Amino acid sequence: MRETEKIWMNGELVDWADAKVHVGTHGLHYGSGVFEGIRCYETEKGPAVFRLTDHLQRLHDSARLLQMELPYSVEELRGACNDVIAANGLPECYLRPIAFYGFGELGVSPRGNPVDVAIVSWPWGAYLGEEGQRNGIRAKISSWQRVGPNVIPHTAKATGIYLNSMLAVNEALDAGYDEAILLTSDGLVADGSGENIFVVRDGVIATPDLSTSILPGITRDTVSHIADALGYDVVEKSLIRSDLYLADEVFMCGTAAEVTPLRSVDGVELGVGPVTEAIRDEYLRCVRGLSTYSPAWLEHVALELAA
Ligand code: PMP
Repeated sequence: MRETEKIWMNGELVDWADAKVHVGTHGLHYGSGVFEGIRCYETEKGPAVFRLTDHLQRLHDSARLLQMELPYSVEELRGACNDVIAANGLPECYLRPIAFYGFGELGVSPRGNPVDVAIVSWPWGAYLGEEGQRNGIRAKISSWQRVGPNVIPHTAKATGIYLNSMLAVNEALDAGYDEAILLTSDGLVADGSGENIFVVRDGVIATPDLSTSILPGITRDTVSHIADALGYDVVEKSLIRSDLYLADEVFMCGTAAEVTPLRSVDGVELGVGPVTEAIRDEYLRCVRGLSTYSPAWLEHVALELAA
């Protein structure tokens, strides 16, 4: 993580080094937080945040699922994201809003604790590597199962749930792979440790439906729209591991990973195919405003501070 100048914290822009929390913070002990990962891209009309409102709406939905009351509206958080980008003066950056139960009581119940909110921004390149984004990564099906819907609400992007992802990606890296694929306890394909997954076979693109313990990814939604606009059929359905091994192409997507092909799954070679390449290239054009496709998704940044 590269240091930048300012972090937005509880309504103010503070110096990077001053954005601190107490060790008694509830969220630190119990993973009681929600967060977002958002990208701001350089466009011909200046920096633009891709689908900012959708991300902040999901942050609010995640908080509701934890019965956490966010002290800032979507509109206020949009302004805060704008301010932190303007203050740091970066043409492209990753934005990490986080809300968590703060310092007060240390019982497991969060009642009585404040909700702290911060937004960090810093430059972050391709999450799975530029080489991986071009030529594909090697994924391994994890021995860790995806957290089920009655364990933690998986549609919430909650901090605590990421222990599940962390264990899976550690296992995959230790075994010499680049990323993990998690299955549900019923053996259905769920997602990557930080990405949704798509499978291409005989010209049809399939992705697990929302009941399969996945995060409702914003990139997943963008990719479905792009694939549709490019003339491909996209279906949401249950997938099993055989579908991965028999696929013509498999790719992952997420805000951080963008669109990244899978070169192999469990050592079964897949290669990078034309459908994935077309969607990846169109996605990368779209986020930088180089496509005529859905300019409403680009939310331009005002480079003067609001306050
Ligand atoms: N699944 C998981 C588990 C994730 O962590 C992410 C990253 N937020 C995604 C999918 C992709 O979501 P998005 O496209 O909204 O970034």
